[in-house]
Amino acid sequence: MVDLQTQYQQIKADIDYGIQEVINSASFVKGKKVQQFQEHLAEWLGVKHVIAVGNGTDALQIALMALGLKPGDEVITPTFTFIATAEVAALLGYTPVVVDVDFDTFNIDPDAIRRAITPKTKAIVPVHLFGQCANMEEILRIAEEHNLFVVEDACQAIGSEYTFANGIKKQAGCMGHIGCTSFFPSKNLGCYGDGGALFTDDDALAEKIRVIANHGMVVRYHHDLVGVNSRLDSIQAAVLDAKLPHLKEYTAARQQAAHFYDNAFAGNKHILIPARDTKSTHVFHQYTLRLIPDEGISPAEYRDNIREKLAEKDIPAMVYYPVPLHLQKAYLDPRYKHGDFPNAERLADSVLSLPMHTCLDKEQLEYITQNVLQIL
Ligand SMILES: *Cc1c(COP(=O)(O)O)cnc(C)c1O
Repeated sequence: MVDLQTQYQQIKADIDYGIQEVINSASFVKGKKVQQFQEHLAEWLGVKHVIAVGNGTDALQIALMALGLKPGDEVITPTFTFIATAEVAALLGYTPVVVDVDFDTFNIDPDAIRRAITPKTKAIVPVHLFGQCANMEEILRIAEEHNLFVVEDACQAIGSEYTFANGIKKQAGCMGHIGCTSFFPSKNLGCYGDGGALFTDDDALAEKIRVIANHGMVVRYHHDLVGVNSRLDSIQAAVLDAKLPHLKEYTAARQQAAHFYDNAFAGNKHILIPARDTKSTHVFHQYTLRLIPDEGISPAEYRDNIREKLAEKDIPAMVYYPVPLHLQKAYLDPRYKHGDFPNAERLADSVLSLPMHTCLDKEQLEYITQNVLQIL
């Protein structure tokens, strides 16, 4: 699905130099490299504060902790996504409230958010799924009307740009009160281990986030808040700092591969190619098809069968995500049943993601698309 070896070979000198610098300095934790990377990323994004942490899930947890919610407060998040957003809300004693997504963009449906709001709702956590921003214009409007916090899960969408109706452009993760991202190796900006970050323009929130991520400590060994220990190590910061100058070209390479896929699949009656939102650029963390079988065939069986046949040709393909959150065992809730969120359930049965990374060449793309079409 990803080719990190080829990417490394292209920037090996810079990566090796950065890692060696950290080893020479022996400043492995909270070193200068982390500081530098935070500053470079803040400048790149056009956001005031970047606070690096241990991983993307920690970033989401720390973001919710910084909002000062109370047990039982409700946090709205999409049901078709990775588990992290609901998981951290549940861990903190808040109530994750899941809502349906748009069938075409895969992203949270603002009308569904409106319907889910109760007096206990305190935050909306949209996920910019597969690399395209959710409908932030509407989400921010809803949040303002109901006095809610917005925490963006931009783990898959770093570099995606959103254009508001007034013409203002913002980066994914830099529109809500707090944005979160992950530097997991396969993410669009990935390190060589675990990493994550929070973004905010709010000075007070930034300070609170720094304190929470560091054991709730304001003055050393004086703990003013209940915090956690979550930090990016200096070697990972060195890798990220070497990769950041390439992020624009990496995004362009993904978009080019997506364009090739689009052209190859256009007009096939069994394939819906990824829809593009008019307000957001797409950075293609995933290139995700919706497969449409002939009448009378089960979509999930059809999809799984195609996936198996691709595997026989050494073509990896993944199902992100096979089970919506409201049908996950750990999150079963009497409020939800099968059929409640039809778009998410339909997507879970029909999506298939193809290889997507920065080093896909024409030969590989031709091999993949020809085989997909042949199997269909
Ligand atoms: C990867 C990811 C996360 C979690 O990031 P980690 O660094 O693996 O903890 C959260 N949300 C989404 C949408 C993700 O893709």
